Amino acid sequence: MRKSLRPPKRYQPDPKLLTNRTILVTGAGDGIGRVAAITYAKFGANLILLGRTRQKLDSVRDEIAEDTGQSSLIIPVDLARFDAKSAVELKRGLEGEYFCLDGILHNASILGPKTKIEQYPYDDWIQVFQVNVHSAYLITQALLPLLRKARDATIVFTSSGVGRRGRAQWGAYSLSKFATEGLTQVLSDELKEDSNIRVNSLNPGATRTAMRAEAFPSEDPQTLPTPEEHMLLYLYLMGPDSLGVTGRAFDVNN
Ligand code: NDP
Repeated sequence: MRKSLRPPKRYQPDPKLLTNRTILVTGAGDGIGRVAAITYAKFGANLILLGRTRQKLDSVRDEIAEDTGQSSLIIPVDLARFDAKSAVELKRGLEGEYFCLDGILHNASILGPKTKIEQYPYDDWIQVFQVNVHSAYLITQALLPLLRKARDATIVFTSSGVGRRGRAQWGAYSLSKFATEGLTQVLSDELKEDSNIRVNSLNPGATRTAMRAEAFPSEDPQTLPTPEEHMLLYLYLMGPDSLGVTGRAFDVNN
């Protein structure tokens, strides 16, 4: 297994790190995705906010507008229903708005049931893979032409500790994160010869969000780091400081 990496020690992003960069964040309405989108905007990016719940996306868009004066594009979409046709529509819509795309943070995921494989329901299995893997592949494939037009572009997939070492009862979620690591490696290898697109995975580790509370209902959330505390790595991988770094698996904590 490849060694997981951390961001450079004492990394200090330039306040203009993402100026003039257009970045798509999936699952931008809540949790880590919400904070990443707002952080990227503070560092100068134009945001495309994709997520399931329109009101949550509206609220992120409003917060970005208040903070930075930037207007973001919102794309309310249920990734559980995202298919090849949706990908074509997404591509057409973004091509009409932007010359290029500088980055994608694939962040949206669902946990699914925490139960043994022996009892794992097939429908949940399919849905977890649909949201966590298939939609990310479709979005990436559709938007590669726009990413290729950028001076340098970055794709960040969100992994998990259970995507690097399997653990009992994490079922399809764990497997979907192993697939995410595979997608990172295959895509990075395919793109490194003929493009300026880097592809990496990131494991945020235990973070105070709704998903973590769902996975560990008896845990005190106050003992966990907030998404804000992880943003240095999210910035490093999204901005030009990670130029040339590709096919690697990063960890907020080791
Ligand atoms: P949350 O559940 O807090 O947020 C997930 C986001 O994804 C929400 O905005 C949610 O939208 C969106 N989403 C979920 N399903 C869909 C769907 N079908 N269509 C569109 N959007 C959808 O998760 P976290 O912030 O905790 O997790 C973010 C990422 O980090 C995930 O990939 C997760 O696997 C990973 N991770 C998290 C850890 C943690 O401890 N929190 C640890 C390791 C990895 P809505 O709010 O509208 O439902």
